This record gives sequence, structure tokens and C-alpha cells, in this order.
Amino acid sequence: MQFDVIVIGAGAAGMMCAATAGQRGRTVLLLDHAAKLAEKIRISGGGRCNFTNVNARFDCYLSANPHFCRSALAQYTPQDFIAMVERHGIGYHEKKLGQLFCDDGSERIIAMLDEECRLGGVDRRMETAVLSVARGDDGVFAVETSGGRFRSSSLVVATGGLSIPQIGATPLGYQLAEQFGLPVTPLSPALVPLTFHVEDAEIFTPLAGVSIDVEAKAGKGKFRENVLFTHKGVSGPAILQVSSYWQPGMELLLDLMPDGDAERWLEEKGDSEQLIANALSELGWSRRFADAWLDRVGMNKRLKDLGPKQRRQLAEQLHRWCVKPNGTQGYKKAEVTLGGVSTQALSSKTLMAADVPGLFFIGEVVDVTGWLGGYNFQWAWSSGYVAGMNC
Ligand code: FAD
Repeated sequence: MQFDVIVIGAGAAGMMCAATAGQRGRTVLLLDHAAKLAEKIRISGGGRCNFTNVNARFDCYLSANPHFCRSALAQYTPQDFIAMVERHGIGYHEKKLGQLFCDDGSERIIAMLDEECRLGGVDRRMETAVLSVARGDDGVFAVETSGGRFRSSSLVVATGGLSIPQIGATPLGYQLAEQFGLPVTPLSPALVPLTFHVEDAEIFTPLAGVSIDVEAKAGKGKFRENVLFTHKGVSGPAILQVSSYWQPGMELLLDLMPDGDAERWLEEKGDSEQLIANALSELGWSRRFADAWLDRVGMNKRLKDLGPKQRRQLAEQLHRWCVKPNGTQGYKKAEVTLGGVSTQALSSKTLMAADVPGLFFIGEVVDVTGWLGGYNFQWAWSSGYVAGMNC
């Protein structure tokens, strides 16, 4: 069968692209090997889909070319997506930091995109495995699938990243890029919990569930949010954010008193009989955490037992507690994949491969990775829309 456009991957970016192209009057086939549409939308945002961030700007994304995403984000903005959500009567609210969530379940977003595809007359085939893709001398793509052979003048690859393989992630998009000569930048799990070395794990495992407000820093990433201790290491928004900047061997720096001046605070406390752990719990620390942390830095004592040098050392530890994670929890727990199809090989205005007319890559498969907080869906919508307008 012949179509104008074949989109591989019925996730966030693929559905947006298919709907946009279909509503332009293109004949579109949307293929996916999974049984259900857009499983990642379904599980996103704790089931409520953090569908965009009103502050989405190019500098909230990691990429070898940080400016690449500018054009798509300008062509289809968070306000454009919010307008679609409102047109479909979907209630939403801002949770924090510009993050918009559905009032009801994330199924509402899937149903909305499904309806938009229907309005575009998109032909959809689920549970359809892609066996091979070829491009003839005439520039027409031939896609061999478990459901037959399809041809099209445009092919859009929207197969997402490698995270959560148990719900359908595969490396097909990266393989297709390589098949057509497009480079792929190194891939790694991102927005992912970090794991501790055994000696730290032994100390902090009993703290699983404790959460504390910090400023976390790794490489060029610096975020003020909560860190959550887990059985294996650290998680929570601050850690997920910096994990995208963390590389093996790198230290993680945590400022445990991000609003205060620890040295001054200790001086003000003076030579009192009070245990330092008690003083820290007055600042909102859990007593369990205060004890474990002070044991770890060798300072579980009374305020009066701190000499001037130790006071300075403790203040330094409070502002620059250095933890050395030994890894991440990997693709099984990562929200996204860092790296992807090189932006050097794609037009930022259309998402089409510069050297392969008609071939597009969109969404997470591209080397554009957003922060935590709705940025990744906004990239999926923007890149999907742009390709949909040009395929
Ligand atoms: P996907 O949505 O992953 O879609 C890819 C599609 O391609 C899938 O349907 C898949 O089945 C299909 N596919 C893969 N391989 C093949 C193949 N070989 N043949 C055929 N089809 C194939 N981002 C946010 O902005 N906000 C959030 O709240 C949020 N929460 C998240 C929560 C979790 C637990 C996870 C894992 C991610 C979350 N993300 C969130 C990230 C977001 O889900 C992704 O960035 C986004 O879905 C990427 O869209 P995509 O269309 O590129 O890929």
C-alpha cells in the first residue's frame, strides 16, 4: 500500500506528527509494534502526564548543539499545546515551576491525540513489527512489516529512546539512522536515580524514604529541589535533574543548607550543650537523617565540642557534601535517554535528514534531552508538529 507519509512509533512525537500531517491532507500510516498507544504518556507524571512546561526554552535541553531545538520550540510552543488541551476540554493545573499536569488521568492526552489523528484520517496499525526499511533510487521508502509492505515518499522515525524497555522501547530508530548514514551521539540513561558505593549504601539504606531540600550539582548541572534517599542510593527531582549532567567517576555535590550560611548559623548557636543533630532537626531535617549524616562526616557531637576549625569543616560539609555515586539505576528506571541521532545531520527547521530527502527523526530519538518537568513532552510535540508540517 502507498501513503504520503509513514510514521514509525505511535508515541508522543509520532502521534503529534501523524495528526499534523493528516490534517494537512497527507495520507498517513502510523505504525507501532506495541499493543497499546503511547504507553509512556500513560505512565508519565505519576499517571497525570506533566504534558508541558510553560518555561520551555532551548536552554532547558541538553544536546551537542544546544541551539538546535530553538526553531521547533518557536514553531510550536507550550501555548500551542495548551490551546489544544483546552480545545479538548481537558482540565489541568500547574504543580510547580511551570509544570502543567492533567487534573484527571494521562489517558486524556492519549485520547486527545488519538482524536486529532482521527480528524487527520490517519491509518493506524498497532502490533506491527518493522522488519526492514529501504529507500529506492526514486526516493520512495519501502517499509517491510509483519503486517505487509508499505511505501511512502516521507518516512518519520519516532521510536523514542531506550528507557523502560518493558513497555516497548527498542533501538530501531538509532539503527535506522546508522543505516542511512546519520551519526548517533553516545547514549546513556538520564533523569535516573543514582546508586551509592557499598559503604555509603550501608549508612543511608536505613534512610530510604527520607527527603530533604538541597541544591545538587554535578558537572554543569545545578538544581534546587528535593533529594530522596532510596534503598540503592539517591533519587528525587534534584537527583534526576543532575543525573543528566553526571558521568561515571564524577562527584555529586549537595548543599544541604541552600538558603543559609552554615558557618554563621553555627556561630550563632555558640557553645551550647545542644546536640548538633537536634539543632539540624530544628531546621527541618529528619532526626534520622541528621544522625546518619553526622555519623558519616564524623561530627555527631554537641555544639560546644566543636572547635573553630571543626566548625568551619562542618560548615563546609553542610554546603558542599560530596558523594561519589557508583552508577545509575539504568534504562529500567530512567525517564529518558541522553544523546541520540546527531543534530548535525538534521535540519533544525524541518527535522529532515540533510542528506536523505524525505527521512525525518523526531522526539526522544534525536539528541535533544529536556530537564525533568514537562520539557521532554514539549520537545515531542514541537518536533512532531514541525515534521508533520514538512513531511
Ligand atoms: P515514545 O513516547 O517513547 O514513543 C515511541 C514509540 O515508538 C512507542 O510507542 C514504542 O512502542 C514505539 N516503538 C519503539 N520501537 C519500535 C519498533 N521497533 N517498531 C515499532 N514501534 C516502535 N516527559 C515529560 O515531559 N513529562 C512527564 O511527566 C514525563 N514522565 C515520564 C515518566 C516516565 C516513567 C518515563 C519513562 C518518561 C517520562 N517522560 C516525561 C519522558 C517522555 O515520556 C518521553 O520523553 C516521550 O514519551 C518521548 O516521546 P517519543 O514519541 O519520542 O517516544
